[in-house]
Amino acid sequence: MKFSNTYISLGEDFYEKVCPMPVKDPKLFLWNASLAEQLRVADDLKNDLGGLARAFCGNDIISGSEPIAMAYAGHQFGNFVPQLGDGRAHLLGEVINQKGQRLDVQLKGSGRTNFSRGGDGRCALGPALREFIMSEAMHALGVPTTRCLSVVTTGEDVFRESRLPGAVVTRIASSHLRVGTFQYFASRGDLDNLKSLCNYTVERHFPELLKEEGPHRYILLLDKVIAGLVHLVVEWMRVGFIHGVMNTDNTSICGETIDYGPCSMMGVYDPKTVYSSIDRMGRYAFGHQAEMMQWNLLRFAECLLPLMDDNADKAIKQIEPVAASFSKRFQKSYEEMMGKKLGFVSYQEEDQKLLFDILDQIQKNHLDYTISFDRLTKSLSSQTISMEIKKDFEACYEPWLKRVNSQKETSQEVQEIMRRQNPVLIPRNHHVENVLRESADTGKEDAAEKFLQALRSPYEELDLTAQYQDQPNDGDKSYQTFCGT
Ligand code: AMP
Ligand code: MG
Repeated sequence: MKFSNTYISLGEDFYEKVCPMPVKDPKLFLWNASLAEQLRVADDLKNDLGGLARAFCGNDIISGSEPIAMAYAGHQFGNFVPQLGDGRAHLLGEVINQKGQRLDVQLKGSGRTNFSRGGDGRCALGPALREFIMSEAMHALGVPTTRCLSVVTTGEDVFRESRLPGAVVTRIASSHLRVGTFQYFASRGDLDNLKSLCNYTVERHFPELLKEEGPHRYILLLDKVIAGLVHLVVEWMRVGFIHGVMNTDNTSICGETIDYGPCSMMGVYDPKTVYSSIDRMGRYAFGHQAEMMQWNLLRFAECLLPLMDDNADKAIKQIEPVAASFSKRFQKSYEEMMGKKLGFVSYQEEDQKLLFDILDQIQKNHLDYTISFDRLTKSLSSQTISMEIKKDFEACYEPWLKRVNSQKETSQEVQEIMRRQNPVLIPRNHHVENVLRESADTGKEDAAEKFLQALRSPYEELDLTAQYQDQPNDGDKSYQTFCGT
């Protein structure tokens, strides 16, 4: 593993140089072997479990790494906090993977920093495993996401509502640039650093914009960031993912799902679904996520205003057309995606009514989102399922079938298109919780590894799959998630 750290070159206003705090007894709990291979992780450490545990808890600093805690601000549930920052995370550095992409390697739960604000800098095993399992599941589903390389138990306890085993999780991200990173400098009126940050972002993520000069470069930057985040939310809607804490500090500029604290999956379809205990107003409910992403992007657009023009009105005029484009872009992309879930190879405006009628039907009958689309997919080749689901979809079923059959593609081709959009397996909340509980109780990784094996093939019916497909007994009515602090 060869580290560099381009972020350090931005200067000390952007971070604190700080080493992870050593832990008592590090043990490798989960290791992502295929990701490790892509990252070309220290080949000399490959078979040295103790060495890997020490490196990925922060006890040993891998040569070339210069750990830093990054500074950022953020709107948390709508309230602006001018300084947040990595309070329990250390960026070890960047590596180039086999495809030539530059990726951040960050430890989380690795001790206190100047940004800890009273927190202990630590992470419990449960949230670390949740991040590993959920991000692996999302990656396999094809949703853009940060990933996890490892979970290392620390041999120390952390104190939350109760005493819990501690862990350090290693996160791999295209970068850790958040909307909140831009807000940190914009809110301080620090235009020099803001500009450096924008140029760094362009160079790292959108080098095709380097040829653009002046304000135009930043307008196009906004456009690219919107494109990535539109795609991200559409993908969340496709698989039923509820992020749970879409604050601007948890919104990545490169369009990846980041921060798996109180996330969950929607079972029974209802846009109002929310499970996070701290989200009492349903701000980040399933069906609210596009609106909230737009809100976050408007905060990002505001950060760019001072780079447009000294005159505020002129600056707004320049950026407004792009900033205001989110809704339309989202709606178009969302409907096309939903159309594919229904097997419409090319989505037509006239499909909208049928699409929303079907969703209404699923909601009215309190049906499971994943199972409904899975069965619809299967119904194209199974008379039995087709007969059964007619009842669920009532007056929508025949028009749907007619629309699907009116295309030039064969039924089998349509089914293949639908299958690519409609997973047979998602990381259902009750199974995630069971696995986290069993892991903490036994101290063994078996339950997590077995679950991961099924989750890594979400569009395929493996022998294992059926064990994790059932709906929860109470329809998740009493389910709650908590911020993984
Ligand atoms: P999050 O809710 O994970 O997005 O975190 C929000 C902020 O709280 C970030 O600045 C974190 O670094 C910080 N934070 C969360 N948990 C802890 C902790 N246990 N110790 C120190 N800082 C924390
Ligand atoms: Mg966060």
